Amino acid sequence: MTGHNRIDHGIGHPEGLPPAEPEVHVLDKSRPRSEHMAANKIECNACPVLCQITEGRSGACDRYANVQGVLTRVDPLLLLTSSDSVPDDGSIDENTDTTFITGVGAGTTYPDYKPAPFIVASQVRGVDMVTVVTEGIFSYCSFKVKIDTDRYLGPERASIRHRGESVGHVTTAEYGSQMLSLGGVHHLTGGSKKEGRITCEMMLALGNKQAVELDIDGGAKLIVQAGRPPVVDGIEEKHMRVGCGSATIGIFAKQWFGHVDEVVVVDDHITGVLSEHQAGRCLDMPLSGIKIKGRKSTPGRYFQVANPGSGWGGTDIDDPLDIIEGIDSEHARPGMRLLMTSTTGEHSAWFVLDEQLRPVPAPMPPVVKKVVDRIVENCEPSLASVMFLAGAGGSLRAGVTDNPVWLTHSIKQAMTHVSCGGAPAYVWAGGGITVMVDVLRMPDRSFGSVPTPAIVAPIEFTLRMDDYARLGGHVDAVRSLEEVIATERGRSVQQSVEQGVWPLLQKPMLG
Ligand code: SF4
Repeated sequence: MTGHNRIDHGIGHPEGLPPAEPEVHVLDKSRPRSEHMAANKIECNACPVLCQITEGRSGACDRYANVQGVLTRVDPLLLLTSSDSVPDDGSIDENTDTTFITGVGAGTTYPDYKPAPFIVASQVRGVDMVTVVTEGIFSYCSFKVKIDTDRYLGPERASIRHRGESVGHVTTAEYGSQMLSLGGVHHLTGGSKKEGRITCEMMLALGNKQAVELDIDGGAKLIVQAGRPPVVDGIEEKHMRVGCGSATIGIFAKQWFGHVDEVVVVDDHITGVLSEHQAGRCLDMPLSGIKIKGRKSTPGRYFQVANPGSGWGGTDIDDPLDIIEGIDSEHARPGMRLLMTSTTGEHSAWFVLDEQLRPVPAPMPPVVKKVVDRIVENCEPSLASVMFLAGAGGSLRAGVTDNPVWLTHSIKQAMTHVSCGGAPAYVWAGGGITVMVDVLRMPDRSFGSVPTPAIVAPIEFTLRMDDYARLGGHVDAVRSLEEVIATERGRSVQQSVEQGVWPLLQKPMLG
């Protein structure tokens, strides 16, 4: 669902450019705060900042403006429309099933007891549905970033900085990837004002698919952008590992068998040694006598063979022989053939033992090189993945229903589908409405911010109309999809219904 095709209806503004003048839907919610406010100002009450905005100007977040005395949401409302040809079997109605009002540009209500900006009724396959649409203001939110790399980025729990301010930390290393946690309420609100502001700016850019520079304390400098290869210390990462050192041995042992006497797959986490490994034993390979540094875990699997770094297999070594502790003459013999490789195949070397049992570099036989090339072939492209994680289980729910916990229950019971800018949101188990969504699946420029500081993100709740009434929904505020399309000015992006994530076609709700 990446790569939305934007269609301008002549009512938006060109990609990347600010609008010539504020336009689109007008919100009748401005109200002077005091009689001391200048006559040409209005108060924006869309967030706790309560900007007083002079006519012709926008507020602190650039999301609202005073247009001839009326508070106006500057960005157009974003509609998703199906990019698929609609089957003529009646299963999809071209007008209703294939248009979805997103929260992007929808505006915010504050305080939250007011109904959400758009509560939209539509019929989907004969079922009356409703979608509650808003731009949530999230103080409790962060980005979980997965960096596909073997390289050592920094110690777990190390602070991550953006423009000198602490904006997150390094979390766990996963299989072929390093996870980062960026943003979050402690950085937004718990540090200095500057830390909060810089954190918010970084989060806004990251969510809107822009490149962000990060410095890890005691580690690497990164450039991270959703869906792009990460840049580590100035070098664009190409491959993620095929597996750990032990897994690499397991995958390719049979292909090496008969062409090598030993293979060592160098890995900062689990270095594999073929002749000792279960894979070598199953192939009846004799022990080579090559002893590896580090801590032996199980046969043919070694931890901590070197320090972490940007060298072979995420270690700090440039010469693979540095991890050999010794060669046991009881098993080793002159002429023995040794392959050393990294988990990505990016580094590899071929050695033959001389009369003194010293490994001597030699040209790698083509048959062995072919297997190393296969390691490379099996490595997926390295990418940075950015997931937005936010808590929607607070006051935002009051814009949906008078009885917020019923919304929470209905989501847990799959009666209500949650999406962010139309993208499917994973809802965490347990209490609250903690949603996680891949920013690449969201329309471009989905995120905004307010200077509280907090992140503004679209969120939509879609459910059957009868369920909505039952859970105490604001049924008086419901408008039909046709009316919203006819009266609101917006822009649309196309998306494929066929990808199984179309928010209006969720099986549990339609039955
Ligand atoms: S920061 Fe934006 S949303 Fe908040 S009051 Fe000011 S203009 Fe309105």
